[in-house]
Amino acid sequence: MITSNPLPGLQLGFLFRRPYVMTSKFDERRDYSRLGGSPNDKHAGCDYDLLEPGVWQPEVLAPFPGVVTEVGTARAPGKFVKVESLHMWDADTPEPQGRFFTLTFGGLCKTFVTPGILVDLGQPLGEIGNSKDSLGEDLHLILQVPGSGLPGYIYPDVWEPDQYFPGHPRVSYAAILPR
Ligand SMILES: [Zn+2]
Repeated sequence: MITSNPLPGLQLGFLFRRPYVMTSKFDERRDYSRLGGSPNDKHAGCDYDLLEPGVWQPEVLAPFPGVVTEVGTARAPGKFVKVESLHMWDADTPEPQGRFFTLTFGGLCKTFVTPGILVDLGQPLGEIGNSKDSLGEDLHLILQVPGSGLPGYIYPDVWEPDQYFPGHPRVSYAAILPR
């Protein structure tokens, strides 16, 4: 059972050009029965949405450089882009310390990248929005750390992604709750 941070020191960049909020936390109860899971499963990622949807450009930006490994459509998370990256936290030691991780960006209505291409920090990957392939207007972000993530979720080796977005001018989760 993995309990310690598998990606120490990782800092991810912005997901959008405009202010956004987390609309669903990691581990919230989620009914994945339509995907072969159970009605009492836990949310395997975090969801995000713009504060003013429809007003701002809803492009999803790569928050870390990597290589696109998959672009497709699934029952969940809908149309998606998957990017694999390598996080090095001690490259100066004789045996460098680092770990591969993947970020899957789901709930997209358009994709701008294809498998095999390299993406830079801040590069547009696609757009969120309603389409027959998306489940809503939110971005569904799934972090997986192969061999070092948590078991017991609908996807293997997941980890809580929001902790790696330090200091962003996002609006707190509480701000979107009903008053
Ligand atoms: Zn989600």
